[in-house]
Amino acid sequence: MAARLLDGTRIAADIRAELTSRVENCTQQAQRPPTLGILLVGDNPASQVYVNTKSRVGDALGVNVDVVRLPATITLDAAQDVVHRFNCSAAHDGILVQSPLPSSLGPIAEQRLFEVIDPAKDVDGFHPTNVGRLAQGRALFAPCTPSAILELLDRSCINLEGRRAVVIGRSQIVGKPVALMLLHRHATVTVCHSRTRDLPALARDADILVAALGRPAFVTPEFVKPGATVIDVGINRLVDSSIVRALLPVGSPRLETFARRGSLLIGDVHPAVAETAGALTPVPGGVGPMTVAMLMVNTVRAAEKRLEAAV
Ligand code: NDP
Repeated sequence: MAARLLDGTRIAADIRAELTSRVENCTQQAQRPPTLGILLVGDNPASQVYVNTKSRVGDALGVNVDVVRLPATITLDAAQDVVHRFNCSAAHDGILVQSPLPSSLGPIAEQRLFEVIDPAKDVDGFHPTNVGRLAQGRALFAPCTPSAILELLDRSCINLEGRRAVVIGRSQIVGKPVALMLLHRHATVTVCHSRTRDLPALARDADILVAALGRPAFVTPEFVKPGATVIDVGINRLVDSSIVRALLPVGSPRLETFARRGSLLIGDVHPAVAETAGALTPVPGGVGPMTVAMLMVNTVRAAEKRLEAAV
């Protein structure tokens, strides 16, 4: 039987609708809209798309998204100056540094930039203070993709308490924080990574399986317990028609999409998993739109906190 699809596009629309009155209140009180400053360095095409999406969603909601674009040739000091400017600005409530940064900035550039963000404006939740608070279960701002996953599960009425969760991937932005958040919600959590042995057997133990590894269609039905909830975080753009044809059944409408666009977004979960899982997030239309919605939630929360502090 085909899995229930957890519709991130619809739930994200609900979240944005719920935010409307809060955005209006903030705008009225501050005499300006809630404002998110984004630093985008370099010309990574995927990052450009993500930042444009954040701007578009912000515009539609009445949240001002102020994007500062710098070339990849910039120095780390110059990038830090932009973050400092956002920190000191009375008109910016939230700050986001779009990752990945160009490799020309050095291996620890991301960490260095996250560290200079004012924790009270750190709507991506990557400042060490916010990471520490998340570990203690009292986050000011939890990272957006893990928050998106929890919100999707909650709003789809999927119970977490006492259930086995397996997270594949241990990155700072997805794997580790989502594992912590699932743990705080009383799931029993196993975190897997590239050195994990016998991954399919561990994954098959999961009631809730989160795939965040960045390998297209890696999680096949042999990884999935029948009826499990599968959260597909991966976003992989495929351009090779032989790979796409091997993944999708003949007659799939997604093959037409590929023929029209010349590329197709595929998650980390194989499409055939839909026949084994009980519930599944689609790609696109699952975690992606929810992540942007949670960024807006965090930005509005940051604006509200600043207004409260000003009273
Ligand atoms: P990273 O590359 O930072 O981390 C990948 C993780 O997966 C690592 O921990 C790595 O292990 C693990 N991994 C890689 N290969 C394997 C393997 N063969 N078996 C087991 N584990 C493996 O990726 P991110 O966390 O940043 O992103 C993961 C995916 O999620 C990507 O497709 C990305 O595009 C997508 N993404 C989607 C978002 C959304 O809004 N939907 C937001 C953010 C990311 P190790 O640590 O040992 O190297």
